[in-house]
Amino acid sequence: MVSDIREFMAKKKGRYRALAREHLAFAKTQLEIDREGNLYYAALEIRKVLEALIYQIAGNYTNDLPKSDLGIWQPAKLLNILLKIDPMADRSGEIRFARESDDPDHVPQWNSLGEDRRVTLTEIKRNYDALGAYLHTPTAVQLMKNKGRDAKRLRVRLDKLAVRLEEILSAKVHNFIMKNTSSFDCAECGARITRNVAALKGGIREDECDELIVECFDCDASYRLTAGAGDEIIMDEDLVDIKCPVENCGNMIHVWKRRATLGLRVQCPECDSVLQIAMGILVEENQRTNKSCE
Ligand SMILES: [Zn+2]
Ligand SMILES: [Zn+2]
Repeated sequence: MVSDIREFMAKKKGRYRALAREHLAFAKTQLEIDREGNLYYAALEIRKVLEALIYQIAGNYTNDLPKSDLGIWQPAKLLNILLKIDPMADRSGEIRFARESDDPDHVPQWNSLGEDRRVTLTEIKRNYDALGAYLHTPTAVQLMKNKGRDAKRLRVRLDKLAVRLEEILSAKVHNFIMKNTSSFDCAECGARITRNVAALKGGIREDECDELIVECFDCDASYRLTAGAGDEIIMDEDLVDIKCPVENCGNMIHVWKRRATLGLRVQCPECDSVLQIAMGILVEENQRTNKSCE
């Protein structure tokens, strides 16, 4: 019995691929029938294929997903978050390997394992909501604007998607991810934080980034990770500095960036005053006039 949701999600990822195949097979049976009503059932099934494919990918990143995002079901929204964790999450690519050698004249012999094919964020955005529009009875406004059903267009879209999804699901390898993890204890709550840092500069990927913002799942702390020399990962606390406004104090208070929102109350350790982040009104720099204001 798995009680942890992250563990459960990771375990289910293989099942989602099987589910995607089942939904695609059913969609195809509906497309074979030359009747408008069946197209809508095919649209529903194709949407389920898209969902299952994204849930399968999400299973690779359960440890990187914030707790608040674990329940997201909308595929585009979920994939958007996955892409922040791993910019390769929706990329297809050939998986190949070669034997390493110290010999400088060695010519590596690459062996291909096959291609891992992924549905892209663009494909989800282009199709998921567009198909959803056919799953509801059109409102009077839609009917008046003639934004009802166009069965011919729907069939063209579904036929194309069925071919594309078949191509994705027939790939020999799937769910392959390059993981290069970094672990440290959260300075605020002590929880162990482990994240994929393969996207950081100097790593093994082409689409590397300069920094990764990593959020603790158990508290408001967040960290800025950058690549150092060699394999070193430099971790900085993601803080904002708040200057105590009490006269004759001016102490700098450091607050986690994620916590520094309207209404936050903090006690200044220097003068013991309780401060609150509130809305304020400023006169813009260089925009002050000498006119009188009544
Ligand atoms: Zn923490
Ligand atoms: Zn103070």
